[in-house]
Amino acid sequence: MDAHATALAARLESVRQRIATACIRHHRHEDAVQLLAVSKTFSADDVAAAYAAGQTAFGENYVQEAVQKITLLRHLPLEWHCIGPIQSNKTRLVAEHFDWVQSIDRMQIAQRLSQQRPAQRDVLQVCIQVNIDGGPTKSGVAPADVPALAREIAALPRLRLRGLMCIPDPVDDATGQVAVFARATALWESLRAQGWELDTLSMGMSADLDAAIAAGSTMVRVGSAIFGYRTPKPPAVPPSP
Ligand SMILES: *Cc1c(COP(=O)(O)O)cnc(C)c1O
Repeated sequence: MDAHATALAARLESVRQRIATACIRHHRHEDAVQLLAVSKTFSADDVAAAYAAGQTAFGENYVQEAVQKITLLRHLPLEWHCIGPIQSNKTRLVAEHFDWVQSIDRMQIAQRLSQQRPAQRDVLQVCIQVNIDGGPTKSGVAPADVPALAREIAALPRLRLRGLMCIPDPVDDATGQVAVFARATALWESLRAQGWELDTLSMGMSADLDAAIAAGSTMVRVGSAIFGYRTPKPPAVPPSP
């Protein structure tokens, strides 16, 4: 192993320790929280190094970048989660290459993904992205609209609804952060109480995974704490007039 891969394996191990410690502290079962390694902007070699250190589930935001990595690494038994906003002209690529889509926020995208999911692949595992802290410009469905979208998704043959995903804005204090995450947990629990068979509540990132686990997360999505500092994406160049 080269020094870079060794450092990556050490960071991955320390994230696992953080998750384990949070589970103990908050009386969660040790297997209750899965780790999704968010590899956006990092190379296929970095993903392969994380795999060599025992990580199999990876999250990506940018469809084209992800498809390149998925194709390069298809010899490895990896599970790929799409966690970024999806434009309708990208649904075919998503349906063909990913195992999960956590960022479903409207029926049109769900319908296209179901139609375009190749017959030879398993059904696509999906989560509804919920705008749990209510920012008007944020992606995600308003909490009140989640049950209707869940019913629509349940009627689609090539999708299987697994749960909810949210990305709340950072809150200064840990108590406040737990309170925001707890709203997502309450919504998820109320759906389960209504008979929805959901097993996934995807929330918590590098900075707030402890609060998310305290509130009931079943999957944390961790990028920078594993792969290191991410160079911000340059802003998209506006089309010339
Ligand atoms: C980038 C990203 C993450 C990981 O963020 P870190 O702060 O690097 O851990 C998690 N979830 C989503 C949706 C992201 O876009």
